[in-house]
Amino acid sequence: MPFPIHRPRRLRRSEALRDMVRETRLSARSLVYPLFVCPGTGVKEEIRSMPGNYHWSVDRLTEECKSVFDAGVPAVMLFGIPESKDEEGTGAYDPQGIVQRAVRAIKKAAPGLIVICDVCLCEYTSHGHCGIVKEGNVMNDPTLELLAKTARTQAEAGADMVAPSDMMDGHVARIRRELDEHGLAETPILAYAAKYASAFYGPFREAADSAPKFGDRKSYQMDPANQREAMREIALDLEEGADIVMVKPALPYLDILALARREFDAPLAAYQVSGEFSLIEAAARAGWVDRERIILESLTAIRRAGADVILTYFAKEVARWLGR
Ligand SMILES: [Zn+2]
Repeated sequence: MPFPIHRPRRLRRSEALRDMVRETRLSARSLVYPLFVCPGTGVKEEIRSMPGNYHWSVDRLTEECKSVFDAGVPAVMLFGIPESKDEEGTGAYDPQGIVQRAVRAIKKAAPGLIVICDVCLCEYTSHGHCGIVKEGNVMNDPTLELLAKTARTQAEAGADMVAPSDMMDGHVARIRRELDEHGLAETPILAYAAKYASAFYGPFREAADSAPKFGDRKSYQMDPANQREAMREIALDLEEGADIVMVKPALPYLDILALARREFDAPLAAYQVSGEFSLIEAAARAGWVDRERIILESLTAIRRAGADVILTYFAKEVARWLGR
């Protein structure tokens, strides 16, 4: 044999060649930008643990949404910080709740923007859990009724999609039935299907003021050690009528994404969560990593693993980079 016939480096010799044979391409069209809406007017308050992210009052958020859309991001995911909290999280399903008001304003100001609403109770309950609590337990079936109302009021306010993140059993089926019975059969459900009880959510707890006041979320969110169970959770949500299924977090769970891509035909979303964001941001601020390269590389990896849709706090900035 002469010197190896195969020299993979031949196709790496120039950017034009590398670009021609590139297997995975990032597009702003697949990004979703998570945003936090709070009471008041004229509010734009930076979230300490997530620099560059803010609590926005409805008026300022509406302006921001126009600029997000103009940057080329097609969709936002809304989280609400209510005026007050109670045991049953009534702020979540109040037709005049913070998210419902925000949706109406955004759809008026930027009708082309896809508005997705997170459906959960934890930002609205005084105990910070994702459902109704009785004697220290998060009750599954009574919670479903409140989640259904939450999703319905969001869709009635004009949300283009609802995204249950609670991890209660049977949530997608209950929400689907509620929407269908109220003339909202066309509203899709993006289910947080494989959502792990992850330490990577740390910074979000401050952003959404949603840390549980007692215990943790391990009785409903998934054990990080489990892979087969994730496939079962995804299969259940699809059987119940989910239109898009999500894996969360993203980068530490690429094996779950890749496996889900092989096993299911449904559109797949991945959430690059607050901890993933803040780790990159902190290292970049310390001068330890090349910020732009590491952001693009992490998003490319998530896409390569199989995500069709990526939720990321970098969405607006990345859309600008990709569009330039
Ligand atoms: Zn929750």
